[in-house]
Amino acid sequence: MKRREFFETVGLAAVGTSVLAGLPSISFGNTKLKTGRGMKLSYEIKRINLTHTWTISRNSSDYKDNVFVYLEKDGITGIGEAGPNIRYDETPESTVATIEKAIPLFANADPFEYVQLGYDIKELVPGQTAAKAALDIALMDWVGKALNVPLYRLWGLDPTKSPYTSFTIGIDTIEVVKQKTREAAPYKILKVKVGKEGDEELIKAVRSVTNTTIRVDANEGWTDKEVAIKKIEWLVKNGVEFIEQPLPAKMMEETRWLRDRVEVPIIADEAVKTTSDIPQLAEAYDGINIKIMKAGGLQEALRMIWLAKSLNMKIMIGCMIESSVGISAAAQLCSLIDYADLDGNLLISNDPFKGTDVVDGKIVLNDRPGHGAIVR
Ligand code: MG
Repeated sequence: MKRREFFETVGLAAVGTSVLAGLPSISFGNTKLKTGRGMKLSYEIKRINLTHTWTISRNSSDYKDNVFVYLEKDGITGIGEAGPNIRYDETPESTVATIEKAIPLFANADPFEYVQLGYDIKELVPGQTAAKAALDIALMDWVGKALNVPLYRLWGLDPTKSPYTSFTIGIDTIEVVKQKTREAAPYKILKVKVGKEGDEELIKAVRSVTNTTIRVDANEGWTDKEVAIKKIEWLVKNGVEFIEQPLPAKMMEETRWLRDRVEVPIIADEAVKTTSDIPQLAEAYDGINIKIMKAGGLQEALRMIWLAKSLNMKIMIGCMIESSVGISAAAQLCSLIDYADLDGNLLISNDPFKGTDVVDGKIVLNDRPGHGAIVR
């Protein structure tokens, strides 16, 4: 028999066997999977308090009212979290309204059809991605728990390849900034918020306490490209690794101009929410800051990672002010990214949950199923 004929025969035989035997059934170890529709959705608002007043270029706050979602079926409960952000027209009330719209969807849902269900969540209302994120996080947590696997395992990712997370220093008085920097000594990377008056003094205050890696986030705070380039040149001399969202999201042309003239990567944050935003950003930014709350869920965040990788863009995963539920969910994707900024739960004083740990600045995933965050 000729070589080609041999392979054709073997190939046909294999196809013939599978046709005769019918489609193979899929099993997950010893896990007995119940199938069927119907998930019970409930939610609650929890106030989470910030250790320090949180000031960025836009606003200031002492607490956040986040919305927690519980999806229940077959004695398993998936937990999700929404950290609504007024920058994206989200409030706890608008978040709750969106979650309530999802009750009929989940009442008739098979959670193992989570990909289609994820797209159905996206269609509920325009925007309101924090609410959608809570629904998708709870759904994926349920799926992981039902299959008895952590989500990083479900998605084929190596949990040991997680990066160090930066710890954020918000805008404050010079003395408080120095104090916060001292408190942040266990972290290998600091992210310093700038974009108001006195950026240079702020960085000098941090540098007077530490020589560690600094990343800078202007939160759209500089509105003139000439001002921004001078600021960035000064920051580069003071050893910053990259600049996040130097100019307002809508100033694409100016950002492209800036990016061509500075030596450090420019990362998009406010300019990017979901996958469809990414292609147009590749010309003006070196990377994107993916947040589960902006993306509208873990599944969309994964799609964003694949697309950004195909465009050779750097990938950062960031967060809002979130408890360990939101942070542990985002951390599941850590091995795919270049930079992590998952400190939302480290900035609060009354985290109702525990999950992903940070040990000497490095993100450490646990082996609990789902996202791995449980009630404290
Ligand atoms: Mg940012």
